[in-house]
Amino acid sequence: MRKAVVAIVGRPNVGKSTIFNRLVGERISIVNDTPGVTRDRVYSKVEWLTTEFNLIDTGGIELGNEPLLVQMREQADIAINEADVIIFIVNGRDGITAADEEVTKILYRSNKPVVLAVNKIDNPEMREDIYEFYSLGFGEPYPISGAHGLGLGDLLDRVVELFPAHDGKLENEDALHFSVIGRPNVGKSSLVNAILQQSRVIVSDIAGTTRDAIDSPFVFDGEDYVIIDTAGMRKRGKIYESTEKYSILRALKAIDRSDVVLIVIDASTGIIEQDKRIVGHAHDAGKAIVIVVNKWDTIESDQEAMRKFEAEIRAHFLFLDYAQIVFLSALTKKRIHTLMPQVRLASENYSKRVETSVLNDVIMDAIAVNPTPTVRGKRLKVLYATQVAVKPPTFAVFVNDPDLMHFSYRRFLENKIREAFGFEGTPIKILARKRG
Ligand code: GDP
Ligand code: GDP
Repeated sequence: MRKAVVAIVGRPNVGKSTIFNRLVGERISIVNDTPGVTRDRVYSKVEWLTTEFNLIDTGGIELGNEPLLVQMREQADIAINEADVIIFIVNGRDGITAADEEVTKILYRSNKPVVLAVNKIDNPEMREDIYEFYSLGFGEPYPISGAHGLGLGDLLDRVVELFPAHDGKLENEDALHFSVIGRPNVGKSSLVNAILQQSRVIVSDIAGTTRDAIDSPFVFDGEDYVIIDTAGMRKRGKIYESTEKYSILRALKAIDRSDVVLIVIDASTGIIEQDKRIVGHAHDAGKAIVIVVNKWDTIESDQEAMRKFEAEIRAHFLFLDYAQIVFLSALTKKRIHTLMPQVRLASENYSKRVETSVLNDVIMDAIAVNPTPTVRGKRLKVLYATQVAVKPPTFAVFVNDPDLMHFSYRRFLENKIREAFGFEGTPIKILARKRG
């Protein structure tokens, strides 16, 4: 089910990023060292009570050297395009400014719900400063203090109330959803077209739930698929993909709704820095992945060339060793038939369950080959393992002391599980749990 999206807008210095960081919390900033949004985030998951949603800080989307007013307008446009609910932040200490009115005008033009938050209300005495903001016309203003974390609960309660109701009959819910990501010009649109052309039945395009992506449902070999096309959108608007942060945001949104992510690399240019960032985001999301080396027609192709390119990919993306690589040309359609079987395989493995008894045989055999390590005189004991989730497959390994399960031993167990069950194309997670 698609998670709701909330965007924060407002003129500079009202406290957007402070509030974004507050709402997101420290949770993901420590995940790993992938450059990009983890360090300088504009998009993140937020959990509020029992609801999860995605939050965008539009203030973090830099739009080149445009004048401030133009940037503000475009950020408000992005919020309208991307979000289900908009949080409009003003500064309670400054009163209403011309720039606030400018943002107001743009938000009026959309029919997205807007919640007005008056920030920098750091103590209760300041609460009367909020009344003048009623005149902006967004109903009751919510007094908050991003710096002190005040009033955010009431604000979020209101935001969550405004989420669109799910009517429970989302189209194509059972279809395999996949997205095609990669930096500009690697051939994403061409690939999407090529895939749709080779499918036997093309269902007409339906607009995506938000305008960021165009969902194309199709049937291939009797199976239902939906391509979430992030690339098509760019051609429709001037700012799409013109800034890297915005394109990453769009890719993250598409990845979020996917079972399988196709990462496209351009054979004619090789791997560059921007590819690495995109790959990092795909990996962080924990989805199944297929790496597509496109424009293979530009390479003097033989087994050796493929081996070399594969070695380059493996060397750059050590953490993606589970992803299969396909070499093809979206333009000439050469080897295009090799793609969908890999998408299907990755998806099947992403949802695969293994039997507990077989899993434990595999784990115990592994331990017999490579005994558990001893850390500071204490030996790790593995008692039992079971698969606790799919998408991606997640295994709980019950041990005497989870601190004794180091990265290298976890990795060893992961490799043994992969050897035994195959899980090509999907990440798997191993959780060390204390057996009481
Ligand atoms: P943005 O440009 O809208 O993202 O604003 P920032 O989050 O960068 O905040 C601008 C300035 O306002 C920073 O110096 C923050 O520390 C400060 N600020 C943010 N929230 C509050 C608040 O609730 N109270 C006070 N007093 N200052 C705040
Ligand atoms: P996107 O920006 O990632 O969506 O890339 P496009 O699909 O728009 O393709 C960018 C350019 O690469 C276009 O000029 C395409 O014709 C070209 N292109 C796409 N796929 C291939 C391919 O397989 N081989 C060659 N030689 N060119 C390709």
